Amino acid sequence: MIELKTPQEIEKMAVTGRFVGETLAELAELARPGLNLMDLEQRARRRIKERGAVSCYWDYAPSFGRGPFRNVICLSVNDAVLHGLPHKYTLRDSDVLTLDFAVSIDGWVADSARTVIVGTPRPEDVRLVESTGVALEAGIAAAVAGAKLGDISAAIQAVATEYGYPVNMQFGGHGLGHTMHEDPHVANAGRAGRGLVLRPGLTLALEPWWSATSNEIFTDPDGWTLRFQDGSRGSHSEHTIAITEDGARVLTRVD
Ligand code: MG
Ligand code: MG
Repeated sequence: MIELKTPQEIEKMAVTGRFVGETLAELAELARPGLNLMDLEQRARRRIKERGAVSCYWDYAPSFGRGPFRNVICLSVNDAVLHGLPHKYTLRDSDVLTLDFAVSIDGWVADSARTVIVGTPRPEDVRLVESTGVALEAGIAAAVAGAKLGDISAAIQAVATEYGYPVNMQFGGHGLGHTMHEDPHVANAGRAGRGLVLRPGLTLALEPWWSATSNEIFTDPDGWTLRFQDGSRGSHSEHTIAITEDGARVLTRVD
């Protein structure tokens, strides 16, 4: 079932979105060679506590993970791209790190992710990280009232194709509101003009993610972290948006 939000409810989601965006910006700033992933987890926990927010990840037990998740952020390094389980790992120069974070405040969820390069960037990683950012903006630009869900998917896919990167169809974006994962599923590839009509009040998380060479993933022995089959590095960009009469409002963007 798809629940459209009132303007007042979207304002509440924007409050959560701001907190999520600011937290990610702060954590991304801290990510440099020598920092341990668990320091980022601890910082995220502290921010959640201070704000009185509720983690969407803690105790999350979906079919695609092993048992309840006992962390508040997903941290995926290099060939890991989604659902990275925080662990004791010290970041190294040129690592590629994805931070994915979702909380609820006053019962309303926001979800966002960004990928950063730690220390000295490799040119191929700069291009990769740029590509999911460009794809996310293309998806947002396509998310106008009256358009179709397939227009968003096609816009994201067009950017992947332009860069020459393959798209995995197993995981993508999603509706969200009172909970983190709601209908509809937003695939990162699809046909324009197809699918659900986008109406004002629809709230979605758009999240292009891929690597340069593989769309095959496998689950790490930790039971959560998803890695690329060929060891290639991944990038992932995500925002929570609301469809309005005047285009998409990005709820997790911070200046
Ligand atoms: Mg996310
Ligand atoms: Mg998401």
